[in-house]
Amino acid sequence: MLDVLVIAPHPDDAEFAMGGAILKMKAEGLRVGVLDLTDGEPTPFGSRETRRRETEAATEVLGLDWRSNLELPNRSLEATLEARGKLAGILRTTRANCIFCPYWEDTHPDHTAATQLIEAARFWAKLTKTDLPGEPFHPQRMIYYFCTHIRKIPEPSFVVDVSAFWEKKLAAVRCYASQLANSPGGSMTGLEEQIESRGRMWGWTAGTRYGEPFSVREVLRIADFRTIL
Ligand SMILES: [Zn+2]
Repeated sequence: MLDVLVIAPHPDDAEFAMGGAILKMKAEGLRVGVLDLTDGEPTPFGSRETRRRETEAATEVLGLDWRSNLELPNRSLEATLEARGKLAGILRTTRANCIFCPYWEDTHPDHTAATQLIEAARFWAKLTKTDLPGEPFHPQRMIYYFCTHIRKIPEPSFVVDVSAFWEKKLAAVRCYASQLANSPGGSMTGLEEQIESRGRMWGWTAGTRYGEPFSVREVLRIADFRTIL
């Protein structure tokens, strides 16, 4: 049983987009899991084995309560009925009330397919009279993180102050050396610089040092005004 489930098209998307928020939620005592939809391979400098080890190391840094891989096909991820059933089963058994998924606009087809798949699986997860595992369950919140390949500035609904967790987030990011490398054995790092400058920019918009942006499609309820002061 989890409080929060972060669903990522590829191993590393969760860390790159919201490693700081994951660490913050863990520090607040929440039970947080990450489900990667594919193994992310092939990539220029990665292999299945390398990616598996990198993911294990990052999982350790984040201190996750749960991590799994749905083993859907990388590069050709599609929101099929079969995949929807597999994912709905995970939602019903992990029972996380809050789901994080990729922002709906992207140039990477796996990312937009993941968004469609997750939204459809969320609906299926609450159905009765199915042969899905577990009991019917409807996650209350869907929050979208930005791990986009589209070159435009998004308009987030809110920014999370992750200043206190930035160094540890970078430690989780650096676990994915095969994805940061410009060349085998090369020192990186355009991607790391991007993550750093985006973190600073979103921190600036929120009046803090480092921030991570998020969007919602459904209205958010404020239960306690002290949380937004
Ligand atoms: Zn990705």
